[in-house]
Amino acid sequence: MKEAVLWHKEDDKIRCDLCGRRCLISDRTFGACLVRKAIDGKLYSLNYGKLIALHVDPIEKKPLFHFLPGNFTFSIASAGCNFSCRFCCNYDISQVYRDRRLEHVVGDEYSPEDVVNQALSEGCRIISYTYTEPTIFFEFAYDTAKLAHERGIKNTFVTNGYMTPEAVRMIAPYLDAATVDFKCSGDPECYRKVIGISDVKPIYDCLMEMKKQGIFIEITNLVIPGFDDDMSGFRDLVRWIRDNLGDETPLHILRFFPTYRFSDIPDTPLESLRKAYELARQEGMKFVYLGNVPGQGENTYCPSCGELLIERFGLMMSRSRLVGDRCPRCGARIPVAVGGRH
Ligand code: SF4
Ligand code: SF4
Repeated sequence: MKEAVLWHKEDDKIRCDLCGRRCLISDRTFGACLVRKAIDGKLYSLNYGKLIALHVDPIEKKPLFHFLPGNFTFSIASAGCNFSCRFCCNYDISQVYRDRRLEHVVGDEYSPEDVVNQALSEGCRIISYTYTEPTIFFEFAYDTAKLAHERGIKNTFVTNGYMTPEAVRMIAPYLDAATVDFKCSGDPECYRKVIGISDVKPIYDCLMEMKKQGIFIEITNLVIPGFDDDMSGFRDLVRWIRDNLGDETPLHILRFFPTYRFSDIPDTPLESLRKAYELARQEGMKFVYLGNVPGQGENTYCPSCGELLIERFGLMMSRSRLVGDRCPRCGARIPVAVGGRH
């Protein structure tokens, strides 16, 4: 347990300013993520240093296709989440406090030094805060990310994008890249009914702040059958990304598979994914990918001359033909970080 960052007092309660829920928490009670608790006029992070998952993954698995391609990342997570997605494929760790009504914090004890040393011993140049929502272990992620930078390691978040602008500003000096995950094209009704979130605006505020802070961003959108089937919401999302983050922002269109409380909903038809892909390209997005469809829509092509630049299969890079960050055929600059931030 550690005193939390980003909160303030409101009368005899505490307002948490870490995520867009901005919970108002009475003494001895929890925030909606169930891992932050008000105790005697202060807010505490209960899961500091309690890790539930540590793995080495290809960076492409996050997915980050334009950030140090072909590298491996040391991936960590604490249990819990500020969302309760009915289709969460990591529900056994993200929803553990809601579903099992646990009173104690789960996970094994680690220090930031342990994580950084383990990443280095595994030969990783990157640490990813992932699997659950990194915001809910923000204090530990922050301390680890800071130390990682001192030791020459990059940091990436895989996030639902619900961090407040204050949180983004705080982590920004140490956060090199983020994968921000949309579900159902950001449809407010889907977020309300299926995810338990009443307002989607904080996601856009978070993205704008990330952009302002120079954090490299890739976007995913999970296409769930029965939601936004006419793709009008997806068109709006693509236009927002293009106009606010830029047409070079990598966009991943993800296939849904039945899981957790959505085990009766079928896989996303390939046809829907292809339709979404075409739509995004027509709207001017230069780097559009399909996810969860091995061997399809994973390669990077030069938007200027069409040359195949990076080949991937099953979220692994198999070959890169880039010369530095340039197309070998026409010399166009490709927005791929092969070294530091770009
Ligand atoms: S992180 Fe979000 S969900 Fe958790 S207490 Fe803070 S505002 Fe509430
Ligand atoms: S935001 Fe991600 S980790 Fe959290 S419940 Fe939703 S899918 Fe799972």
